Amino acid sequence: MTLISLGGTIASTAAAHGTGVVPQLGAKDLLDTVAGALNDVEVDVVTALRVPSGDLSLDDVVGLARDVREHLEHGAHGAVVAQGTDTLEEVAFALDLLVRSDRPVVVTGAMRHPSDVGADGPANLLGAITVAASPSARSLGVLVALSDEVHAARFVRKTNTTNVSTFASPTTGPIGRVAEGLARIYLRPPRLYDAVDVARIDRVPPVLLFSCAVGDDGRLLERVSDLGYMGVVVEGFGGGHVPAIMVQRLGELAARVPVVLASRTGAGDVLASTYGYDGSERDLLGRGLISAGFLDGRKSRVLLSLLLGAHADAAEVANAFARVHRSATTAR
Ligand code: ASP
Repeated sequence: MTLISLGGTIASTAAAHGTGVVPQLGAKDLLDTVAGALNDVEVDVVTALRVPSGDLSLDDVVGLARDVREHLEHGAHGAVVAQGTDTLEEVAFALDLLVRSDRPVVVTGAMRHPSDVGADGPANLLGAITVAASPSARSLGVLVALSDEVHAARFVRKTNTTNVSTFASPTTGPIGRVAEGLARIYLRPPRLYDAVDVARIDRVPPVLLFSCAVGDDGRLLERVSDLGYMGVVVEGFGGGHVPAIMVQRLGELAARVPVVLASRTGAGDVLASTYGYDGSERDLLGRGLISAGFLDGRKSRVLLSLLLGAHADAAEVANAFARVHRSATTAR
């Protein structure tokens, strides 16, 4: 098993009293906190970074995915990534798209730093190692383990600024739990369509995540090309709707760069065939926007960014989103 640490609260300590914590600890320090509870699991440690997770780039994550693949190909039975919780859901989903191994890959972190009363890092790390060491966690895609819950990377989100149970999968709920030192998997998500070949990515281009808000006319969308964005994810209202005033701009934009339509609600599929007004999902999909399916805006941005980084053209992007959606759901 390999433990790779990137920083975050789980690795954060204060240099002096009253200065605030910053990521300083490495993977060996983290592993030492659970050493007495590992039973027979052998863990190799790699300190890749010591950063707040908001400082990670998708290029960092592509490098991380390559490292994880290499460890698994060289015999590691599983991998645990310990990082900040702020962007954990995006990193975990990017790994889900890029690692493509049947061996368990589990991402974890902490909401309370090591010197907080009730620090949750050690329990979360032990839970993640337990899941990664479990045969029942094979072939499930990348998982997220915190607060004794196991979530599929494709569905999980951070939902609260401070709660230790901040991670939730609003569309489906958790797929398992950790109890009495065992990973208990109740639901097995289907294998996700293999949308992105990590070997084809050299640099991940900028992609804009644009969230609709009441009364906004979408003027920022005029500047997308000037600002160098190669694609856009629009988080629409509800089932995938925007104000009518944005429709023409979005249609013109979709003729130039891939524009993906997600929902700002953060759960449930984008609609396909219900509403017919200007700015409705039918209108926008008819103007060439690509449905995000079950993916939320942040995860759609990860998929679109990686596809463009792998030089996918507009038709390949549309096909990949449709196939990722179909692979994860069985709507009839
Ligand atoms: N700011 C921290 C980070 O994401 C929060 C955390 O780790 O929970 O790096």
